[in-house]
Amino acid sequence: MHLSLKNALMSGLLFSILTLANAQAHSLPKQFPEDNMIYRPGQDVGMAPYRAVSLYGTNQFALTYDDGPHATRTPKILDLLKEFGVTATFFVLTSQINETTRPIIERIVNEGHQLASHDQDHDDNNGETGPIYKSELSQSIVTLEGILAEMGVHQREMYYRFPYGAYGKARTYHHLNVMKEVSRELYGENCINFVFWDIDSSDWLPSITSEEVAQGVKAHMEGGTAYSFKAATVNGRRVWTKVSYQITKPLKGGVVLMHDIQEKTLSATRLILTEAKAKGWKVVPLNISKEFNYGNKECVLK
Ligand SMILES: [Zn+2]
Repeated sequence: MHLSLKNALMSGLLFSILTLANAQAHSLPKQFPEDNMIYRPGQDVGMAPYRAVSLYGTNQFALTYDDGPHATRTPKILDLLKEFGVTATFFVLTSQINETTRPIIERIVNEGHQLASHDQDHDDNNGETGPIYKSELSQSIVTLEGILAEMGVHQREMYYRFPYGAYGKARTYHHLNVMKEVSRELYGENCINFVFWDIDSSDWLPSITSEEVAQGVKAHMEGGTAYSFKAATVNGRRVWTKVSYQITKPLKGGVVLMHDIQEKTLSATRLILTEAKAKGWKVVPLNISKEFNYGNKECVLK
């Protein structure tokens, strides 16, 4: 009886654990490559299914910075975020980590920000062969995990952002299948969570000002004039020009894309954070949103 009671309790417990695990597995967002899906090159593409919809209408946004670390600009962004008491995610190019920039990577982690991969270099992955993409993705993750391990930090979330947001259009393979392979080899489970964006600040545009970058982000939160860009070929050269447009139905939340290697991004960030403070908009880390939550995953490097 004791045994059967124990069994019953155990099976009940097991049932609860399984139910919980299932519920969490089912609620896992799409930003992880799906375990049971074989992605088709050239067909399973686009950012539309991967928006951070759970942040919409919440007056909450996540700040993300790409393309660093930059020896002088990234530290200034870190100073500013500290001043405002907020955290961000830094998608770094691991080929840019060297003796000079390594302390910046450590600052990112020590000051409570999320360290994330923007790949090894900034090549468009659609132009890379499967083995090269695989090797660079793997190398990038291993580099970041190596630094975290040396610092004695376990950061469960390993976010990845495709340079140019480009993926899925290579001819012979699909990046998300490779991502699952890399993840299985490194972690034994599906642990690399890819991130696009909802609010493009266009801060990399040569002709945009800090005020316009901040205005564009503000427009996504409450409506108004925002800025985008269009490409044209002038004298045989590809030129990107600024385009303004009106937002009448603002998202009121989402993931904001910026670049810590841009000088104007520092003053734009100050304007955005000042506005956010005045309006009561909250800056949140990525992992609080449903899309970027890790559920019951452990994600420890093998
Ligand atoms: Zn980039």
